[in-house]
Amino acid sequence: MPRKPKAAPQCGTCRAPLIFARVTRWPIPLNPEPDPAGTIAAYVTGTGGRVGRWLTAGEQPYAHEKRYAQHKCPRPPKTAEPQPDALFTDIYPLTTIT
Ligand SMILES: [Zn+2]
Repeated sequence: MPRKPKAAPQCGTCRAPLIFARVTRWPIPLNPEPDPAGTIAAYVTGTGGRVGRWLTAGEQPYAHEKRYAQHKCPRPPKTAEPQPDALFTDIYPLTTIT
């Protein structure tokens, strides 16, 4: 049996493609394209992981970093209840991080 290719991460709510960066302890969902208005500077480590940090106002990413925006769904799902931000760690378990 051919091995099933690993699905690219996507938002569980709006299905947008996502990348993740480990910021402090938790992986944060980011939009996959660098965003000049983003608030997280992230880079890919030698082992292929992605590590990010919050930028303060006016702070610029270092040369090895790119600026990304944290993923926010463009509109709330019709049936959704208000949910705490922390819930994304349930939707995207750590095992999905590459
Ligand atoms: Zn979304």
